[in-house]
Order: sequence, then structure tokens, then C-alpha cells
Amino acid sequence: MRFTEPIIHIDMDAFFVECERLAHPELRGRPVAVGGGGNRGVIAAASYEARRFGVHSAMPTVRARRICPQLVLVPSDHGRYTEISREVFALIEQEVPVVERLSIDEAFLDVSGLTLLHPDSRTVAEHLRSRIREEVGLPSSCGIASNKFLAKLASGKAKPDGVFVIDTDRQLAILHSFDVRAMWGVGEATYAGLERLGVQTIGDLASVGERALQRNFGTSAGASLFRLSMGIDDRSVEPHGEAKSVSNEQTYEADLQSDEEIRSEVMRHADRLSSRLRHAGVEAKTVVLKVRFDSFETITRSVTLASPTAVGQDLMVAAVQLLERAAISGRRVRLIGVAGAGLIPNTEAVHQLATDRPATWDDLAEAVGAIRDRFGHESVGPAVVHHKKENPGVDIDAV
Ligand SMILES: [Mg+2]
Repeated sequence: MRFTEPIIHIDMDAFFVECERLAHPELRGRPVAVGGGGNRGVIAAASYEARRFGVHSAMPTVRARRICPQLVLVPSDHGRYTEISREVFALIEQEVPVVERLSIDEAFLDVSGLTLLHPDSRTVAEHLRSRIREEVGLPSSCGIASNKFLAKLASGKAKPDGVFVIDTDRQLAILHSFDVRAMWGVGEATYAGLERLGVQTIGDLASVGERALQRNFGTSAGASLFRLSMGIDDRSVEPHGEAKSVSNEQTYEADLQSDEEIRSEVMRHADRLSSRLRHAGVEAKTVVLKVRFDSFETITRSVTLASPTAVGQDLMVAAVQLLERAAISGRRVRLIGVAGAGLIPNTEAVHQLATDRPATWDDLAEAVGAIRDRFGHESVGPAVVHHKKENPGVDIDAV
């Protein structure tokens, strides 16, 4: 069994604007732009309401205000967008093994390995979109096709908040109906040249033919334009780098409220993180606690340890200290996560047994790991975690 359209291009809708709307719901439904004010400010992102007035990214703010006087301008908060982007990618990477990030808010996914889990690529895309919507609170769109070029073209068509599939059976007919300006890599100069040749659609481009395109745009650019106009693109999805963190987190069906319950859940996640790290063969230098409140406001607190660890006890102590430092008592909690970052393969990890912890912790962790590998995670563990009944929420364990 093979998916006929195995490539997904996923792109967050008006990402910066939607991040702002998470923190400021009063911005929903209004023409909003994120960007710089003053005389020289530039729009970084515009909401769909603002785009209807012609406001778009890279437009001078002064001009945006002129064509849309009711525009609400919000200063950009890049640190926050990066943090939310990390959450979105962590979620995508839990579901899809092959992810190539293109920017803060878009990626190519190769889902050809998921045929046992999902009936087709559209189901994978809808599943991802609904998880991002439910757990992060943001809208996204997906284009699905047989290759990267077509998938990227399709996601443009899917926006906002949709899915568009270019069926392989009909891909040439669909491709040829697109405006040539929708093509990736067709900038102003190329477009001016194409216009002179009377090219409006990608179909027109194909009928110009390879030789004529090469005469006009050079051998290599002409050949590549022609190949794309025929829907040919054999670049594969290339994930860069290794996983940068391992996390264990959960969105609860009912908000948690009592300090005791929250503390116990933090410990449970830290303990599970220990298993995740051991299975991944890594140790973490940094422990990150994430808490999302019922308002969707999310805080993260992190601590870098004296030496990297995968020991449950170390992770629990660190996570509980972070929880205490966050002082969230009395607030309603929707999600708790504990992650390990700054990962080091445990063969290379520097163990400082003599200095900061009794060697027995490592020996114990080794033994617990071995028992769990054999009898399952719940077979053994710290008493406080062991006696806690399973929470009804959905566990999201990921490497
Ligand atoms: Mg986007």
C-alpha cells in the first residue's frame, strides 16, 4: 500500500497575527497587522480581514494605514512566535517522521511511511490540523501532492484553514490551470519576461516549450521552468538535524486545579520523560516545564543541570523546582509538559558520579530501565508516581 500523494506542505495561516490573537482574543475578526509603526515601519504579517483591504506583508505601514484606516497594528514579538513555532513543530514531529522545516511556520512532510496508521494523506493532514487547532489554538493549511513543488502550490490554494489535494491522476490538468505567478521561484523579473511571451497560466508556460524557455531565460533556468510546468520535481523531503528535545506532555480532558494534582502530574511527566530519554539513548542537559492555562496562555520554565541526566529522580526534582518557581497556584491548568533539551548521546555523556550524585542513582535507573523494558512502564517506579491512577487525558509521548 502506498499513498499516491505522499508530500504535504503545511503552512500556518497569518501566523504572527494568529499568535497575537491567542494572547489577545479581542483582535479576532478585526483587520490586524503585525509590524513596525512610525514612518519607516513595515508590515510583517496581515490578517485575512486586513488582506481584503489590500494590506500585505512587506508593505510600508504608512501605506497600510492609508488603505485600511481601521487597521489594528500590533508590534512584533518574535520570541513568542518562535516559542509557539517550537510547539507546532514538536507536535508535527510526533506524528510525522520526515519533516523539513522551511521557516518559522511552514514545512514539507513526507508521509509515505504512515500507510499503516492512516488511510491517505488527506487524513494525516486533517489530523495534524485539528491537533494544532486543539492543542496550540492556531489555524493552518495543507497542500497535498505527489511532490514538493505541487504540494507548495496546493497549500496556497488551501488557505485559509483548509486542505487542497492535487490528485496525481489529474495533476497536469490542475497544475496547468494555475496562474504562473503562483509558482515558486517566479519573481518579478521572470514574470515580466513570461508576460512578454504571453504566458498567464502554467499551462501557457508548458506550451511555450523547453527550447524557447531556454532561449529566453538561459539553459538552466529555462529547463527548470519547463520541468516545473510539467509537474516534475524529484527533490526529496530533507529533515535537517536531529531531534533537539524529547518531551512528554498531556492536554487534560478536564482542567487541573489542585496544587497537589498538578505537582503529581509534573512528577509523572518527569518520570515518563526519563523513560523516553533512555529509549532514545540520550541524556538531557536542560529540563523544560511547560504549563498551559485554561486561557491558552502558556508559560515555559527551564533549568540547565550541572551534568546531563536521564535519571527520573533528577528530572523530577528539577521539574518540581521549576513548578514552584512558576508560582501558578490557584490557576486552572489545561496542559502540562516536561521536556529534556540539550541532548547528548548517553555514550558520550560526561558522568560526574563522584561529584554531584551518589552512583546508586545511576545503578538504580539502569535497573528500573531494564525492568520497564521487560515488563512495561508501569511495572516499577517511584511510589508517588506509581500510586497515581492513570489520568483519562490523552498521553502525547514523543521522541
Ligand atoms: Mg504561513
